[in-house]
Order: sequence, then C-alpha cells, then structure tokens
Amino acid sequence: MANDIRCSYYKQCLEVTRMLNLSDKLLDLKSRVNKCYCDDCHTRRGESYSFRDGPGSHNLYTKPVGWGRIMLSLPPRAEHLNIFKKWNAAFHGTAPDIILPIVEGGELLFPGDKTMHGETLREVAGHFNDDSKPDGFNTKQVFLSPSIKYSGCEVYAKKGRMYLQSMGRHVYVRTVLQVRVKPDQFIVGPQTIGRSDPIDPPIDNKTIEWALSARNSVIPTAVLIQVLDSPGASSSVDQMSEKTAKLTMSGATGFAGITIDHSTTTANDEKVDYAIGCAVSAKGRGKTEGGIADYIQDEFDKKYEPPNWHCIVGKGYTCYTECDPGCKIRFTMGDDGIYLFRYRIGTEPKPSPRAYPHISPYDRKMIRDSEMDTEMEYHVFDCCKRACDWYSSNDERVKYIKEEFDKEHDSGWNCILGVNSVASVSYNHKCYISLINFGKDNMHIFLWRC
Ligand SMILES: [Zn+2]
Repeated sequence: MANDIRCSYYKQCLEVTRMLNLSDKLLDLKSRVNKCYCDDCHTRRGESYSFRDGPGSHNLYTKPVGWGRIMLSLPPRAEHLNIFKKWNAAFHGTAPDIILPIVEGGELLFPGDKTMHGETLREVAGHFNDDSKPDGFNTKQVFLSPSIKYSGCEVYAKKGRMYLQSMGRHVYVRTVLQVRVKPDQFIVGPQTIGRSDPIDPPIDNKTIEWALSARNSVIPTAVLIQVLDSPGASSSVDQMSEKTAKLTMSGATGFAGITIDHSTTTANDEKVDYAIGCAVSAKGRGKTEGGIADYIQDEFDKKYEPPNWHCIVGKGYTCYTECDPGCKIRFTMGDDGIYLFRYRIGTEPKPSPRAYPHISPYDRKMIRDSEMDTEMEYHVFDCCKRACDWYSSNDERVKYIKEEFDKEHDSGWNCILGVNSVASVSYNHKCYISLINFGKDNMHIFLWRC
C-alpha cells in the first residue's frame, strides 16, 4: 500500500468501501497505485492534472482530484488483453448501491439489466428508456467520460448518505468506477447535462461523453470514493461537478438558467437538488415540457415515500393546489416555470350529487384526457364556464373551480389554468380531466384529485 494510506481522507474512503460491502477479495489493497487524490495529497505529489495514457486520439483524461482511489482485483482477461497499454482510461459514475453488484459481476450494468441481487437497474436520471426515446436511439448503452467532474456529477453519480464510525456521524458519499475501455468500441459525443461552460478543461465539452453498447469491451479497474460533509459540500477542485448543490446553496441563476423561488419552496435542499437534477437532465436529453413533467413526477414517486407527486411545466399558468408540508418546490428553468408538489388523500370522491346531463359533442372536443364519469365531466364544464364568466383573473377562476369541486366531491382537488403548460400528476380513480382550447382565451385546464 502506498503512503497515502496515512491520509485521514483516504482512511474515510477505505471505510466507505467496507460500508459498501466490498470485501478485501474484491479489492487490490496492496496495489502501488492505490492513491489519495485529496487536494493535499495531490498537491504534495506535484503531478500534472491531465494525463495522456493508452492508444489513439482519445487518450487524454484528468486526474480524480478530490477522490480516493482503491484498485480492484482484476480478472485474468485484463492482463491477457493488456488493458493498461491497449485500452483507454475512463470513468463511469453510478450510485453507491450499484457499485457492489457491478464489481461482483465484473461488468458495467446496462439499463434494464438485472443485478445478481435480483434488482432491475433503472435508467439514470434523464436518460431515455424504451418507452420514451428518439427514433433509433439505443437505450442499451452505458456512459463513460475521460473526466471525473463529468462522471461524478449528480446526474450520474448520485450521492448516498451513510454513517462513518471514524467520523462519528453521517456523511454524503459519491462513487465512480475507473475503467479501461476498448478504443474502437465507444462513440464520442458532447455533454448532455445542460452545461455550456467548460466542464473540465482541458477536455472539450464536445468530446466529454462516451457511449458504449458492447458490455465486454469495458473492464472496471478501480473504485473512486468522494466523501462530502454535507449534500452541498464540494472540494475546491471539484466545485463544478457539484452542479445542483451549488444551485441550491446560492439560489442564483446558473447552469441552464435556473432560479429557485425561495418564497414558495418548502422542501428541503436535498429534494430541491434532486428536482433540479431531474429537470436539467431531462431537458439535456431533449425532452419536451410534457416529457420533463412526466420524468420529474416519476422520479419523485420512485424515490420518496409516500408517492403522489405532481409536476407542472409550462410558460404561463395559474394554479390552486393542496400540498403536504415540506413538499413544494418551485423554480424556473429558462422560460419554463416548474412546479412540483406532493399531495395525497387516497379516498374515493363523492359522486355527483345532482343528475347532470351529458356534455355536448362540441364540448367533448375540448377534452384531451378524462377519467371522470360523464356526470362529473358535465360539472367540470359547467363550473369552468361559470368561472370564466364571473371572474376576469385566472387566480380567481382556479380558486372558484377548486372550491366548487371541493364542496361537491370532497376536498383535495387541484386546478391549473394555463395557456401553455403540461402537467404530470398522480390522481385517484375517476378524478382527472384535462381540457384544451377552453373558452375565448383557449386555456388548458387540469383538474384532478389524488
Ligand atoms: Zn489525502
């Protein structure tokens, strides 16, 4: 083991590998290239920041400054293939709980893969999947980068929280695998995380993301660990990879033109970070407003218990909603206003108290989507027409519609009026309707209850 073992930061990194259940058999703890890349150790060694190693034109990579590197036990084929001479060095960011299944299996996991523990791997935040992708896009690929600032950003290397005995408290941890990849097997492409500033000079943003679909052409060689004191903390050299954390800390506009509305946001920094991370990566992947709303809602329902998140994305809308405490996030991304909140009731609505007639075929054309029974649909039209006749401001209109429905069909209704907005919401059985081109203002109306 190299001298770096004496560094307290490196000891923390080793403790993290134990917490991740990486046994000594999986690691090469005697390797001379186990290295601490904390600022102090890196500076003391006086090594250059970028490095050329391996064949071909894509042999430039940057050192993992701010991280601790622990080499893995390599399979016999690594030596046979002479990967340290003949293959390129790269990084692959993934969540801490995915490290063990990858190292045990010896290969990177692709979206949709089942781990040895029987779990199916989900797409990384913002990535396309088989249900939602451009024509011809191959979802069965993994992403690598010659930059750990890129691979180590929140989109790829999601933070995990764990208790470190040596510190006597909880810390946040990121994990990245260092790999060797066969030179002719990957496609070099631009960044897809919505960044326009240089992410990691001297590597060009245009060549910072590598995609690979041949799984046996990549071999993990080391695990890299970063220990953070707080979800927003970052080491001095690594600040740029702390995209979302930085946004929350400063609350300022930055990457992708994000501004958090602190006056209405009630969620904690961790949720705000995650929401922004999802939004930025969905947009970076070319998703439309509807796709961004769907994506954020879906990710939040998967990540936070209990579910029932609702997400609205659009350029002009007014809403009147119910919201659980600490579960409201509002921010703008470019021209879009994004509103994410959770609300759940989980009871069936009261049926319509009156016998309403069915709506006219003319009105029916305005229904984009409905799960309501026809009587409740009639009530929607009746109520929305009155709201538009009686009130001139959208604030008053949404309030009226919501309160009417709360009165007649139990409380908990949410209403949005907009000219250009898309919503992705959870709703109770028979409690969702979406109207388009309503009234003389051609409004979109969403009314739902969960
Ligand atoms: Zn160190």
